[in-house]
Amino acid sequence: MAAETVSLERLVAWLSRFTQLVTENRSYLTELDSAIGDADHGSNMARGMAAVMEKTAAAPSSAVDELFKLVGMTLVTSVGGASGPLYGTFFLRFGTTVGAVTELDSAGLAAALRAGLGGIVARGKAELGDKTMFDAMSPAVDAFDAEIAAGADLAAAAAGAATAAAAGRDATEPLVARKGRASYLGDRSAGHLDPGATSTAFLFQALAEALA
Ligand code: ADP
Ligand code: MG
Repeated sequence: MAAETVSLERLVAWLSRFTQLVTENRSYLTELDSAIGDADHGSNMARGMAAVMEKTAAAPSSAVDELFKLVGMTLVTSVGGASGPLYGTFFLRFGTTVGAVTELDSAGLAAALRAGLGGIVARGKAELGDKTMFDAMSPAVDAFDAEIAAGADLAAAAAGAATAAAAGRDATEPLVARKGRASYLGDRSAGHLDPGATSTAFLFQALAEALA
């Protein structure tokens, strides 16, 4: 399957499915954030992705880099919370890495996801176990790479990434937060899923569904 690629349309379908998931789960994400934060993660993500879908529909991109730079800029400018700049940087780095192409092959998508993850680290300095979105995203990107290296097709690699992201999300529950607003709670942050890790699991669920 060396010629297998993801088209621009399929990448827009990924963003659209992510928008749908954070919108449907807006109350759930906000409920998680009310336990260890300030009860705005659902509205931040739903508002940010709605703005993304509006912008991308109004000015359809002709290349992958253009699309994701627009997505990243829109999230950075339309979401006030920590998650806006973090997801925004993820998509900006994703976009700057791919170049002016109209489709991505498995190596291109893997490199873009890896660069996006690097953007989140550059911005938020989170490490594994800090109880952040990084705890879902880092294993997801690793799983994607491992699947591709083992010869899996894009759909199987994305499914593996989604499974790893969900496991990473679940693993945040017992952790004490060391980054972000939840860290102000100290030990009281334990016993709750991290909201950002939960939305990141939706990001990879959406990718798996878009590539299935
Ligand atoms: P805010 O914390 O400003 O209210 P949100 O509620 O939208 O923003 O997002 C909170 C999420 O952001 C957390 O659940 C966590 O996953 C993520 N987060 C916070 N700080 C960091 C960081 N330094 N690095 C990575 N992710 C972080
Ligand atoms: Mg919040």
